[in-house]
Amino acid sequence: MTETASPAASPAASAARTTVPTFRHFIAGEWVDGVTGETFESVNPADRRDVIGRFQAGTGADAGRAVKAAEMAFPAWRATPAPKRGEVMYRFAELMARQKERLARAMSREMGKVLAEARGDVQEGIDIAYLMAGEGRRMFGDTVPSELPDKWAMSIRQPIGVAGIITPWNFPIAIPCWKMMPALVTGNTVVFKPASDTPHCATLLVELMAEAGFPPGTVNLVTGSGAAVGDTIVDSPDVPVISFTGSSATGKRIAERAGRRLKRVSLELGGKNGVVVLRDADLDLATDGILWSAFGTTGQRCTACSRVIVERPVLEPLLARLEKRAKALRLGSGLEDGVDIGPLINAAAVEKVAGYVEVGRREGELVMGGAAATDGDLAHGNFFAPTIFSGVKPMDRIGQEEIFGPVLSVIPVDDLDAAVTALNQTRYGLSASIFTRDVNTAFRAMRDFEAGIVYVNAGTTGAETHLPFGGWKETGNGHREAGHVAIDTYTEWKSIYVDFSGHLQRAQIDNQPD
Ligand code: NAP
Repeated sequence: MTETASPAASPAASAARTTVPTFRHFIAGEWVDGVTGETFESVNPADRRDVIGRFQAGTGADAGRAVKAAEMAFPAWRATPAPKRGEVMYRFAELMARQKERLARAMSREMGKVLAEARGDVQEGIDIAYLMAGEGRRMFGDTVPSELPDKWAMSIRQPIGVAGIITPWNFPIAIPCWKMMPALVTGNTVVFKPASDTPHCATLLVELMAEAGFPPGTVNLVTGSGAAVGDTIVDSPDVPVISFTGSSATGKRIAERAGRRLKRVSLELGGKNGVVVLRDADLDLATDGILWSAFGTTGQRCTACSRVIVERPVLEPLLARLEKRAKALRLGSGLEDGVDIGPLINAAAVEKVAGYVEVGRREGELVMGGAAATDGDLAHGNFFAPTIFSGVKPMDRIGQEEIFGPVLSVIPVDDLDAAVTALNQTRYGLSASIFTRDVNTAFRAMRDFEAGIVYVNAGTTGAETHLPFGGWKETGNGHREAGHVAIDTYTEWKSIYVDFSGHLQRAQIDNQPD
């Protein structure tokens, strides 16, 4: 299926002279225009002249329609046996697997990450779809002995209702799947608002969901701004659960608004992830891990390594390796062979990163990089040179604040204790790693790092979908995505007692001495 022939492309756009297609919302099983008819563009961050499509600039009215559709679809979907819901998910996973290359290329074009990483992003979506399809045949509750005779005691999970799904642009296929699959397999229906930088990926994903057979109204897509569409979803009394991934600032705002209605809110927010390199580490391995974690996805992963905390005796040899290897990284379009680093997502991101580089110049010593990359064709995109600062102190701003770009701060420390202290001295707690050959030290780190994910002898990225994913402290609010625990966000527990004794039995009273 070509992009312009996509079911999301409006007839008006197909007929138009322009080759830029227009896409629609997906509400109640139909591709529909927004109420106002206004659109916004999604552009290729590697070449801003390349307009990918026009998307409905949704409003509160569009979000309201989608919520209504999801509400209407809920009773039938909830009543569909969970294994049957899982079967739709299997079909969806298979369709994604078949379309993996197409989705990955569309992602590289819209979001900028290099093709190998885009394929990985799609694969995460496939993996979680298969995992959650299987969950349709598990969804365990407890069956426990009752404290009273002739009485049965058990607990079951039940869906909550309409789930509001609000996602960022940096994992435009994986993150929506991480949220929608557990929501749907447990019997909820969803209203999905993707980031305004990646509406095309979201549209392609929802097209496949429709093709897989999710019934009309179970999955609804509304594109548009956070303020217009996001706020309406968050404020709606008919959306009892919100799952949000994005910046801490937006997450806090959503939590405050949703708190007024006592909604359940799952937040996956920012990070300031660190790698500890000890004097006994394999420095070549550490270099591989750090480069991949710091500059992969142009530093725009929530698990990106932005701090290296290194014992002084190995500071110079590590720095030399990092500098040499980082200088060899090639910037360019993620769709081109041999490119290591794609663009930042938009011009505002380039400005933000450049601002932090200025802060870094005052706080540490610039080892390399430090400027937007504008040579030749790069001038048409949002490129920034991989940047390394050394001599950073743990509490410096560039050691504390999430930059979300290819900027690495190297923090020298005297010993393991100082390394653990520095690593934990942040308001975030998503991912952390240590390079050491000493098993005792590795276990201390596994115990003492304040993070939801810990790696030993690997960088800070690379989560697998069958373990919980999420962070401590201000990275979130205690919920987890992925793993079987992902369904906790989208289910209510119901404890059920069946008394077949034929007479009244009072718990804690009739089975105790007076
Ligand atoms: P963002 O600006 O907070 O946006 C995230 C989503 O929220 C977008 O869909 C955005 O819509 C929407 N939004 C904005 N304002 C809203 C509002 N008032 N109400 C409801 N929704 C609203 O974050 P981002 O820049 O896209 O993503 C980068 C951040 O995500 C980083 O901080 C990164 O660490 C974090 N992240 C965390 C994880 C994790 O699992 N912990 C994973 C990935 C990313 P618009 O696009 O229309 O503004």
